[in-house]
Amino acid sequence: MSATDEIFNAITKQLEEGVVPWHKPWVARPSMIINHYKGTPYTGLRNRMLLGCAGEYATMHQINAEGGRVKKGSKGHRVYFSKTYLKEQDDGEEESVYVLRAFTVFHISDTTLEPKYAHIWSAPPPADCNAKPVLEEYAARANLGVRWGGDSAHYSPSHRYIVVPSENDFESREEFWGVVFHELGHSTKIFCDRTYEYAKEELVAELCACLCLGHLGMTPTVKNSAAYIASWKSRIHDIKSSDFADACRSAEWAYRTIFNINK
Ligand SMILES: [Zn+2]
Repeated sequence: MSATDEIFNAITKQLEEGVVPWHKPWVARPSMIINHYKGTPYTGLRNRMLLGCAGEYATMHQINAEGGRVKKGSKGHRVYFSKTYLKEQDDGEEESVYVLRAFTVFHISDTTLEPKYAHIWSAPPPADCNAKPVLEEYAARANLGVRWGGDSAHYSPSHRYIVVPSENDFESREEFWGVVFHELGHSTKIFCDRTYEYAKEELVAELCACLCLGHLGMTPTVKNSAAYIASWKSRIHDIKSSDFADACRSAEWAYRTIFNINK
């Protein structure tokens, strides 16, 4: 099985088990999951969705090198790193080849080692920033209209506005801003000419909303209602595994576009 299929199957399995992979707090706050060897957060939305809980992770090789061992019966987690390298073809031309490599890592509590970076991953979330200036700056830059009210939220590409019910109609401000950033996620297409199929488009907007909330120190609402999970199970079913990887990249791009982070 290819690494891409392996990731896709793992995500699908989490949804089957009633877990929304993008609602894990460390999807939006990468500093909560640290490489025990390097002290750096795991990059890549896919990896963050696959890891099981906050803290430090290390490979078997790294654990052994530190004189530790994995506790009996512990389960590893898969993480993936992509690499592009140049490969010489028969005609002497060089072609760049993209490879995805998989590693198995263990949570430090499943080993005999002690965590080294607890001050990073157990730190409280950043002080709650105000989402409103972010919305206003982005809407001005994108020349996007924002309308409040009604009973449904959507983005209108032809009229170039988003409409979201008023904040009082939501149970929490996380839920309200989650919907606002979801619609803003759709609207980032103003800055590119990509078109996606419906299910993929929705996934990009939803992942983007999680990243935006995390940036502002808000945790995505864990709205694990049966209806929410059922709708995502059927959407994910319509997405191919290669499209899933692309949706993750597009969501990170959409989030950076909203916050005007040029990386
Ligand atoms: Zn949507």
